[in-house]
Amino acid sequence: MTNETVQPAATAVIGCPFCDTLNRVTLDRLDDRPKCAQCEKPLLLDRPVQAKDDHLSKVINGATVPVIVDFYADWCGPCKMMAPVLDELAKERAGALLVVKVNSDLNPVSPQHYGVRGIPTLIVFKDGQEVGRQVGAAPKARLIALIDGA
Ligand SMILES: [Zn+2]
Repeated sequence: MTNETVQPAATAVIGCPFCDTLNRVTLDRLDDRPKCAQCEKPLLLDRPVQAKDDHLSKVINGATVPVIVDFYADWCGPCKMMAPVLDELAKERAGALLVVKVNSDLNPVSPQHYGVRGIPTLIVFKDGQEVGRQVGAAPKARLIALIDGA
């Protein structure tokens, strides 16, 4: 018996980029290099993860850390400007923030579901609830304020 408080593990649900299987990963053990339970390819969490219409809500609701979702399209110039910012955030906050990208051309249902009217739109969720939204390209400081201020 100890008096230590047991902190619940930070976890997230993400789709495998190779086989689409949903995996629950323990974020405070990223050094263990989590692998997909189905295809055993590595699940990389120091970069944005792609989500699809059929599992985006599970990803948003399944994370115990804040989630920022980037609704983007490949032809969208301002979206391209945001890409390196999101890469940086994912790397700097690996394990404490889940950065999710949704290609709105390939996944038309999710933008509609979340009321996205233009891209890029970035939405921050905590415990499955929207806590902040940015429409249009924005500096990194603005995204950090959305994530930390909510
Ligand atoms: Zn897989």
